[in-house]
Amino acid sequence: MSKYDKIAHYQDFNELLTILKKSSNNYDIRKIQKAYDLAEKAHGDQRRISGVPYILHPTSVACIVAQFGMDSDSIISALLHDVVEDTEYDLGYIRKEFGKDVSNIVDGVTKISKIKLYSREEQQAENVRKMLIAMSNDIRVIIVKLADRLHNMRTIECMPEQKRRDKSRENMEVFAPIAHRLGMKAVKDELEDLSLRYLDPVGYKEIEDALLLQENERDRFIEKKKKEILRASKLPNSKITVYGRVKSINSIYRKTYLRGKTIDEIYDVFALRIILDDIKDCYNLLGVIHDLYTPIPRRFKDYISTPKPNMYQSLHTTVIDRDGIPFEVQIRTWEMHQTAENGIAAHWKYKLGFTRIVNNKKARELDANINRIKDILAAQIDTDDSTDIIRNIRNDFDQNEVYVFSPKGDVFNLPKGSTVIDLAYLIHTEVGNHMVGAKVDHRIVSIDYELNTGEICEILTQKDSHPRRDWLEICKTSSARSKIRQWFKREKRDENIIEGKMMLERELKRSNISLTDEELEKLLQFMLRKNKFNTVEDLYASVGYGGIQLWKVMPRIKEEYNTKFKPEDKEPVIVKTTPQKRRHANSGVIVEGMEDCLIKFSQCCNPLPGDDIIGYITRGYGVSVHKRSCSNIPKDLSAVEEPERYVKVYWENEINENFRSTLEIISTDRTGLLADVTIALSSMRIFIHNLNSRHIEDGRAMVTATIDVVNREHLDTVIKRLQSIRDIISIKRF
Ligand code: MN
Repeated sequence: MSKYDKIAHYQDFNELLTILKKSSNNYDIRKIQKAYDLAEKAHGDQRRISGVPYILHPTSVACIVAQFGMDSDSIISALLHDVVEDTEYDLGYIRKEFGKDVSNIVDGVTKISKIKLYSREEQQAENVRKMLIAMSNDIRVIIVKLADRLHNMRTIECMPEQKRRDKSRENMEVFAPIAHRLGMKAVKDELEDLSLRYLDPVGYKEIEDALLLQENERDRFIEKKKKEILRASKLPNSKITVYGRVKSINSIYRKTYLRGKTIDEIYDVFALRIILDDIKDCYNLLGVIHDLYTPIPRRFKDYISTPKPNMYQSLHTTVIDRDGIPFEVQIRTWEMHQTAENGIAAHWKYKLGFTRIVNNKKARELDANINRIKDILAAQIDTDDSTDIIRNIRNDFDQNEVYVFSPKGDVFNLPKGSTVIDLAYLIHTEVGNHMVGAKVDHRIVSIDYELNTGEICEILTQKDSHPRRDWLEICKTSSARSKIRQWFKREKRDENIIEGKMMLERELKRSNISLTDEELEKLLQFMLRKNKFNTVEDLYASVGYGGIQLWKVMPRIKEEYNTKFKPEDKEPVIVKTTPQKRRHANSGVIVEGMEDCLIKFSQCCNPLPGDDIIGYITRGYGVSVHKRSCSNIPKDLSAVEEPERYVKVYWENEINENFRSTLEIISTDRTGLLADVTIALSSMRIFIHNLNSRHIEDGRAMVTATIDVVNREHLDTVIKRLQSIRDIISIKRF
């Protein structure tokens, strides 16, 4: 009989109540009873394959969770963990009746059950583990899931052979490593041993038999050592607990079958565990043990001063007794023992106790500890196998990643902030190129939807659909972006040329550069040489699909323009028109600290919304508003005579009033110039107050236009548009 046969396979609600009453935790029995009643009603006549009433499964899982020392909500979630999936009650109902935490845990456990967990590809298993940890923003999800899995393994006997092997494999690949990382050694050992029984029944039996053969010998040996140690320790019997420890079958299996040792060669088949009240006693007792027996060099490990990443703490040593028999000794405190067996669940228990007493520093420390451990676990550091470490560092779990799965359960790993477009291209380039939309958790979402860990995402495609240019701005990953560009490069050359040329011209205009097509081609020659393009169309096409990014190359183009193309600067001739008085019912300016004061826009600099402005309190004429850069405003306000006269003023966010502005447009003199300007302005629905043109020197003309604009951006747009008129040399705002 193996040690696992002693574990009751099914436990009922009375047994759960007994466990809860024995515990030192303060449980919400009424809420737990209510959850049980719902689960019982919901599962009704449902039965397990073995014929056992279904309700006994969630009840047993709740018992396991309670034995870990978890809180009321975890136990309630365990009772309800199959309700959403298998019965008519939905998550909304559970949330309403039992709160957000419970519905969140039940939802997490249900989702995990749907993931395709085992795959031959190791990377996939790795991803699944990472995803599960990432998903459990509430770690209780994982703990309830582990309890569920444990109970299923205890009762899997009646399942078909294939199912037993599949589940066993999942345990070895996914759940046991997670339990290990959570420091839940008891769960890890049991899951592994139960799984090994189905994966290699013969090997399992051999070890089990060998251990049974040794049982009497081992018991006698341990009794003897126990007496020797108790005597030498000089501690009262109440202060020291010594017992024999049997290694898990799976760990012996690994050492014998995988490392080619015989059972007799394994030191710690004989092993003692000593539990004490405090850390000082642990080190004292280590000294006693090393006096009593001969320590084997390099077998001593101090995991008390340097805990394992999964919080495990103990002193380990291997010694040889006078008869030449080696055995391992583990020394620890009771608290360390709890942590060693139940890992993170044990910490939950302490946290619970402390939070109840006082909401103090200790509770926060434990919180921090749990978070730290979560991070470390996620970082995949496995101290058991040092060759793994390098690979694990490379695979380092990153807070900046999300894990989502397809409706079939395949897991995909993307940078945080990734959209459904990124996922589509990650699945397959063709999926991305034909995407029309996506569903997340069965709901249609917009194309810029950002994915979250744990979501089920389905990409909708259509044969004749293709990417859109704005996807380039939406997607997050460079691989999606380059695949979209590839598509445009291949499919849309003509379009790209037009688009690229327009983009380039727009940028040039923004820099006040106006060129004919011929001049532009000349200007861009250096770009053609640099990129090995044959024609300027190649360059435009590349700009069009995003192969060349304008913001990167514009400075260089401007430089080229300035050195080779810029026309000689001539001081534009400025003709002043009579300034018009403006009446402002509502000036659009707010003066800091003053309401309803008279506002006057200065004539010297004509500030426009968007300009950096400052107010000056005049004598008797209210506040006059200047541009901060106006020559009438001193640069250094701290040095002026009456600094208190200068006040902060702001533009109101919404300005409905038009502002008048005068432009001076210098151009090569030609017929039709004034007409072109008029057409351009009226096509933009600009109100023109005044417009005239006159001949100036060097065959040039100056057009003066006084117009109404909404704000400075509007003015900039107008100027840009005017710059596109043939022969225009410069435009100045007056
Ligand atoms: Mn279940």
